[in-house]
Amino acid sequence: MKAIRVHEFGGPEVLKLEDVATPKPSAGEVLVRIHAAGVNPYDTYMRAGAYAVKPSLPYTPGSDGAGVVEAVGDGVKKVRRDDRVYTARTLTGAYAEYALALEEQVHPLPAKIDFKQGAGIWVPYGTAYHALCHSAKAHPSETTLVHGASGGVGTAALQIARAMGLRVFGTAGTPNGLEIAKREGAHQVFDHRKAGYQEEILQATGTRGVDIILEMLANVNLSHDTKLLANNGRVVVIGNRGEVTINPRELMSRRASIRAFTLWAITPTEEAEIHAGLFAGLENGTLRPVVGKVLPLAEASRAHKEILEPGSAGKIVLTI
Ligand code: NAP
Repeated sequence: MKAIRVHEFGGPEVLKLEDVATPKPSAGEVLVRIHAAGVNPYDTYMRAGAYAVKPSLPYTPGSDGAGVVEAVGDGVKKVRRDDRVYTARTLTGAYAEYALALEEQVHPLPAKIDFKQGAGIWVPYGTAYHALCHSAKAHPSETTLVHGASGGVGTAALQIARAMGLRVFGTAGTPNGLEIAKREGAHQVFDHRKAGYQEEILQATGTRGVDIILEMLANVNLSHDTKLLANNGRVVVIGNRGEVTINPRELMSRRASIRAFTLWAITPTEEAEIHAGLFAGLENGTLRPVVGKVLPLAEASRAHKEILEPGSAGKIVLTI
């Protein structure tokens, strides 16, 4: 089968399209014919060797795939051959024609979600759901700022927050991104490249502040975020690419808190809740993964360059 292989950590050019043996499922495993694989920012940190999770070389990247079950190992009960599924992690990597996964890593893909959208479920929607429901413990009628609303996690968060009955603000850095944020559920949008936009957000709350901030770039925004919070406000750090200085007094005076997580460290109970919640939303149409760019598997290195550039528009997906 064709697969992207990484033999050494480095820039996007280390992603090579190669022929490798098609894996076979052992007991408890599922072989999925992958039709589309989602590209996530963490795939690039891992490829560079700069991530907390460091795979042994060589490896095939990708946790988020969507396709059809090709074969199942002994004892597998959850899915059978020809079922449409999405993956939430795999054993052998989703940037490939076939991926081996544990039975618990494959999940049914509702009929109205196509494979390209299915490749944008696990990391973006799992993260957004965990941030809002488990970390922030959001309640209907609260105000949430999705700080970075035009990308994979941001568009997912807008849809979930809107369906939960929150008042939703979103930021993006381009006119297209702002348009997407509005379309996907933001009641109001703000340009995070415009000087003074934080004051506009505060004014939009009547100076009360927002209850929840889902933060995609904490090293740039965290010191301002603490000043945008209402009493008992929560910042959930989702993305961060460096260090930042904050004034804890801003938190003290608001009884506010900063929370953070990585999706790798959630509990099995949380993960089960996430998939149940996502399946319901995908099935009833409230959750609709936004596919912004589709590239062939052979162009994985281009996808890794473009995912880190400004101007997000939903997910970048590789088709296979
Ligand atoms: P993405 O699709 O590349 O989107 C990036 C988002 O960040 C876009 O909305 C972008 O907006 C926005 N952004 C850029 N500059 C910003 C600024 N100054 N202030 C606020 N937002 C800004 O990436 P993603 O998949 O949504 O992931 C977002 C971040 O979360 C990444 O850093 C990723 O590594 C991290 N993440 C963490 C976890 C976890 O487990 N903690 C899970 C998933 C993702 P424009 O392009 O419109 O400027």
